Amino acid sequence: MQSPVPPKPSPRREKHFHEARNDPYQARVKLADPTVCPGCNAVHTAGRWHWGDRPDNARPHLCPACQRIKDKVPAGIVLLRGEDLATHRDELLNLARHQEALEKSDHPLNRILAIVKRPDEIEITTTDIHLPRRIGDALHHAHKGELDLTYADEEYFLRVSWTR
Ligand SMILES: [Zn+2]
Repeated sequence: MQSPVPPKPSPRREKHFHEARNDPYQARVKLADPTVCPGCNAVHTAGRWHWGDRPDNARPHLCPACQRIKDKVPAGIVLLRGEDLATHRDELLNLARHQEALEKSDHPLNRILAIVKRPDEIEITTTDIHLPRRIGDALHHAHKGELDLTYADEEYFLRVSWTR
C-alpha cells in the first residue's frame, strides 16, 4: 500500500562529502600559500579558506564561493513553498539570511548565491551543500512544515524543499 506522505530521506541515503575532493570548484586549482580572494578577502593558508588579516605576500585568486557566484553555478538550493510565504515572507527570508551569517562566519565558502522571489515560491541558491541543510533545519525547527532533502547521486549538490 502506498503511503500518501513522501518518505523522509533516511540517514543511510545521505552522502557525506569530502569537500575538497568532491566540490569541483575546490579541486580545480592548486593555490599559492598564502592566497587572498579579491572578491571577499577570504584568506587561503595551509589548505583552507578562512577569515583573517591579509598576509603581505598573498597572491590574489578568487575563492570557490566567489567563483561560483561569478559563474552563477550553485551547489545547493532551498525552495520555500506554501501558504506561509504570503504572510511570513520577510520573516522566512530573515531566518535564512541569519543562518547564512552564522554559517559564513565559520566557513567562508558557505554562502547564499542568490535569492529569487516568485509569486508561489522563494528560491535560495547557495555556494555549498551545508548551508541549504542548515536553512532547511532552521525553517523546520521554527515553523514545522515539511522538509525534504535530496542529495545528487554523483554531483556535489543538495536540493532542499520546505513547504508549509
Ligand atoms: Zn571570495
